[in-house]
Amino acid sequence: MAQLAILGGERAVQTPPRDSFHWPIITEEDEAEVLDVLRRGAMSDTDITKRFEREFAEWQGVEYALGFCNGTASIHAAMYGCGVGVGDEVICPAITYWASALPCFSLGATVAFADIDPVTLCLDPNDLEHRITNRTKAIVVVHYLGHPADMDEIMAVARKHGVKVIEDVSHAQGGLYKGRRLGTIGDVGAMSMMTGKSFAIGEAGMLVTNSRAIYERALTLGHYERYTADLETEALRPFAGLPVGGYKYRMHQMSSAMGRVQLKYYDARCTEIRRAMNYFWDILEGVPGIRAHRVAADSGSDMAGWYAAHGLYLPEELGGLSLTRFTEAVRAEGAACSPGVNMALHQHPLLQTCDVYGHGKPTRIANSERDVRRVDSSLSVSERINYRAYYVPWFKKFYPEIIEEQANAYRKVCENYQSLLAEDRGDPVLMGRAGTTTRG
Ligand SMILES: *Cc1c(COP(=O)(O)O)cnc(C)c1O
Repeated sequence: MAQLAILGGERAVQTPPRDSFHWPIITEEDEAEVLDVLRRGAMSDTDITKRFEREFAEWQGVEYALGFCNGTASIHAAMYGCGVGVGDEVICPAITYWASALPCFSLGATVAFADIDPVTLCLDPNDLEHRITNRTKAIVVVHYLGHPADMDEIMAVARKHGVKVIEDVSHAQGGLYKGRRLGTIGDVGAMSMMTGKSFAIGEAGMLVTNSRAIYERALTLGHYERYTADLETEALRPFAGLPVGGYKYRMHQMSSAMGRVQLKYYDARCTEIRRAMNYFWDILEGVPGIRAHRVAADSGSDMAGWYAAHGLYLPEELGGLSLTRFTEAVRAEGAACSPGVNMALHQHPLLQTCDVYGHGKPTRIANSERDVRRVDSSLSVSERINYRAYYVPWFKKFYPEIIEEQANAYRKVCENYQSLLAEDRGDPVLMGRAGTTTRG
């Protein structure tokens, strides 16, 4: 039996990771395009952004792409584009970054959470239909940590009830579901492109859709200078010139300039990421206590840029070892490993008691006919998942020896778990991150 590093043994990881984790990859080409924007003083123009949008739409195979200052704004506009308004409900998985759900509040709507599937970590299609009411306007689907959601089943339920589907592609830009680009399967896709994401260009967001009506409505919320009287949607024409939402959502051109360069290399870079991550998990296949969070090799789906790669944890195979103790031990071996994913959103006080806008009651129910908080009680997978998932090394480069060493750190801990049980103090009562999903 090997001595674990946390108990005084030698660390499994000895080799420096070189640039395995460095992201985004910036070359002189990115620098030149950004400098050009700076020197022209074109930061607030839209010429580059419009070119980026056209190229992005073509890459996605979609009619319309609209750039935003961040992903949160693009989701806000996607909701508005789908007609979400006062008193409406949006269904969203309880496990996601807050921006998948919270923008609905400023539209006067509320969020009804649905549970996630414990293997995909995405919206569970079997926990969806019973949550639809006559006030449900949209379902937000998140391709969580790069894993495509079960779009066929979700779309079938949505179509049956005439509910729109918004794909939050912030974790999975460029990914495939059964051969189709994520973001193009629902009614509208919206995504973040901030620095920590797979498609990383500073602070930016993108909305994609094949629906002219959704595109035009989304545009009116915060793109005042592009809101002109020649819109096809007649009802929107009288208000041209001002952003109906009172927001300003234009993308900064240093981001769109970088985006045009990143787009050229993005698919190839993601292919290398997937090769590296699949290699990591192939090495660990069959090791007790841990499972890959990934799609089957022959499914026609993929893990996109494998955003903030995570693994699944099965403490019952390791004598009940807590995730906290497990992750401490792996970190001591020199590999990245931290417990949990995003915290379950319904467990945060903002979704329970906070009166954001002075309605005299919690914002969550300010405009609703029913108290949607009551159905939060049936989100058991979401409430458990933070004890059963952990951040793993998110390799950007295929360096076999480095990947093997890091995988061996995991294997070593799993195979020697018994030596950790004695000093296991268990997991804290609440786990999960309120803010970012990435933590190395
Ligand atoms: C990052 C993120 C967003 C928000 O994007 P920003 O660019 O940070 O505003 C939305 N949804 C998910 C799932 C995210 O991870």
